[in-house]
Amino acid sequence: MVGHCDWMGLAVRLARYALDQGETPVACVFVYEPMGEVIAYGTNDTNGSLTGIAHAEFMAINHLQSAVGTGAEMLRLARSITVYVTVEPCIMCASALRQLGIGKVVFGCANERFGGNGTVLHCNKDASAGLNGTYRSVPGIMRREAIMLLRYFYVRSNERSPKPRNKSERHLDKTSFPLLNWGRYLEESEFVEEFGEEQTNHYANHTDVAEKINWSLVDEGCDDIINELERRCSRFVEHRNKRVKQ
Ligand SMILES: [Zn+2]
Repeated sequence: MVGHCDWMGLAVRLARYALDQGETPVACVFVYEPMGEVIAYGTNDTNGSLTGIAHAEFMAINHLQSAVGTGAEMLRLARSITVYVTVEPCIMCASALRQLGIGKVVFGCANERFGGNGTVLHCNKDASAGLNGTYRSVPGIMRREAIMLLRYFYVRSNERSPKPRNKSERHLDKTSFPLLNWGRYLEESEFVEEFGEEQTNHYANHTDVAEKINWSLVDEGCDDIINELERRCSRFVEHRNKRVKQ
């Protein structure tokens, strides 16, 4: 069975690719559950496009809209899509995903300043006027991998800055991570549905479910990830075209 970590692994590899392109390493894949396949993906493109709203989720939404349009089919698909994104969606993206009627969001690390899935606001499930439906948001999948990519990015940015900080400030922390307050995002019963009864000690102790960090995803560049995702997305387009012809 393909699990949360397999899909998030693709998003982490894509975020690593974004890092190597000089972007903030945040990326997402949209998984269409009935097919068990990626149907859209996006990386942060704010530096490349000089557009502040070119967040990974928006890029993926654009990607999907270019395949299926913005009409009824998009809304019908959205309910069956799980978004795997390395960093918690910001308030803007969290609201956009809800307006689209997305089924579920799974994310890596919290977005401490702008998080819209529980860290700052609960855009996924609050009683905001004008927003239909709610979606569950599951935190903590490959959380430390996502944090490490952001740390790499900040170290690289500092090294390029005209006034780099001294070496001790640039020290890259690979061992300590903030606690994960699951209760901010999930009720305990929801946590059990996602991870199983045997993992509830993590809910109580604010620790990661995965024991180890997958360093190869963080440390190895992956130039082939775009080709892999394109191949995956094309399966959906083929599947859809066949259906349209029938
Ligand atoms: Zn965003």
